[in-house]
Amino acid sequence: MRQKRSSAVGLLFVFFYLIWFSPALGAEAKNVILLIGDGMGPESVGLAIYYNRFLNGMDQRLNIERMMAAGNTGYCLTYQYGTVITDSASAATALASGVKTRDAIIGKDHDGRPMKTITDIARQLGKSVGLISDTRMTHATPAAFYAHVIHRDMENEIASQLIERGDLNVAFSGGAQHFIPAGMKVEEHPDLKGIAKKAGWGASKRKDSRDLIGEAKSKGYAIVANDRELAALEAKNADKVLGLFSASGFPSAIDRQPHHQTGVPTLSQLTEKALEILKKNPRGFFLMVEGGQIDWVAHGNDVASVLHEMWEFDRAIGFVMSFAKENPDTLIVLTADHDTGGLAIAYSHYQPPAPLKLASGETWKTKYNFAEKGIFEKMAKQKKSFQRMVMDSKGNPADLKREVEENSAFSMSEEQAAYVLAKGPKNGYPATKDYSEFYVYGTNNPMAMMGRLFGKETNTAWAVGTHTHTPVMVIANGPLGEKFRGLLDNVDIPQIIARGWGATLPAPE
Ligand SMILES: [Zn+2]
Repeated sequence: MRQKRSSAVGLLFVFFYLIWFSPALGAEAKNVILLIGDGMGPESVGLAIYYNRFLNGMDQRLNIERMMAAGNTGYCLTYQYGTVITDSASAATALASGVKTRDAIIGKDHDGRPMKTITDIARQLGKSVGLISDTRMTHATPAAFYAHVIHRDMENEIASQLIERGDLNVAFSGGAQHFIPAGMKVEEHPDLKGIAKKAGWGASKRKDSRDLIGEAKSKGYAIVANDRELAALEAKNADKVLGLFSASGFPSAIDRQPHHQTGVPTLSQLTEKALEILKKNPRGFFLMVEGGQIDWVAHGNDVASVLHEMWEFDRAIGFVMSFAKENPDTLIVLTADHDTGGLAIAYSHYQPPAPLKLASGETWKTKYNFAEKGIFEKMAKQKKSFQRMVMDSKGNPADLKREVEENSAFSMSEEQAAYVLAKGPKNGYPATKDYSEFYVYGTNNPMAMMGRLFGKETNTAWAVGTHTHTPVMVIANGPLGEKFRGLLDNVDIPQIIARGWGATLPAPE
């Protein structure tokens, strides 16, 4: 009898323990913020962490490290339907709809069926939705959260789908050229006059006369086009905002430092305003924030520019973490769609350190250079992206030499500059001499060759100019955070979020 009673008490205890202490029970992610570092392989994360510790102090921590401290960290496999490597469109479709698809496909499965996205589920639950990217609103990652097309290059159609559905509360990015009538320039559109010239002006890419900005306004959208207009926008009066801040992608983070004022808001400013608008909804929200240009500068094998993109993204991570601290019913999931470039900080036999007399009286000697903090001091001296230097030199070797010497710790001869700018005989694009099969975007080749030329100075080597298979990190904080531990597959991420909301992905639209 006595034994029975104590086991009943034990069961009761277990029951209450489960109810009160099991994080899986009762935890509700009212708000979900998905942070995607495009091309942010673990190599880029490690680069930013080491830079911070070696230059700013071994006790210094990035926001991404503070996020890891909660212990909800995992690895994520990024392969796409039928192949080992993924494209950004298929990866974004996996992260938005929980389904593997073929490369270049947005919002459809491998058979071309339109798939429901996590933003559709959020809308069905009465939640608000926001999407932010420093690329273009019509670029692969943001597009997969609202559009369904067979190829990512159909950016005019993607823009039309955004405005036709008209149910996103916040859409902040670049790519204005896909939203204005054919024949018009973005700076001529009455609602986009605020786009700063340095942010990028240019002609419409549309083939029709649709004015999607006007259509958006008739659906209740406020339009903003630069950092001042964004700051002036009062969240309490804004339920739907379309912010288009450049004709195409934002300038690289390294090219929009304070001394290169561009009028483009930072990712953190965009995130702050988006959260002010989204948090008004008592049912919560879904927000996706993409640090989209880590990928772009990694395609160009430009290591200092990767650092600047990482810092830009890390500041946004910090902002989101403070929001979640004040709003604990917020789940933050941070991941990447894939690695880009196969970055390596590696030892070499270039300029090994001098022998050293140790306290013991012995002499320490090494044949190799294992990279001291000087590599980061050199990276810190770079003031422009390789791409900007190439563009500003307008194909002239003497100008490229000057650009490099004025804006970085490196130097090059005119012969080397001529080699970097040389055009291949076939396609008219500059051509790498080795691994050219892995440099598929001709215009990236001059940058990749600069990466090779200066690599020994910063112990930096790059494998390729494309994406790699390397599993990426997943880090989560808040309710359901512990579900993101261990080895995941990219499709698991929206599936876990959907399940937390009582819904199922993948599902046909
Ligand atoms: Zn890419």
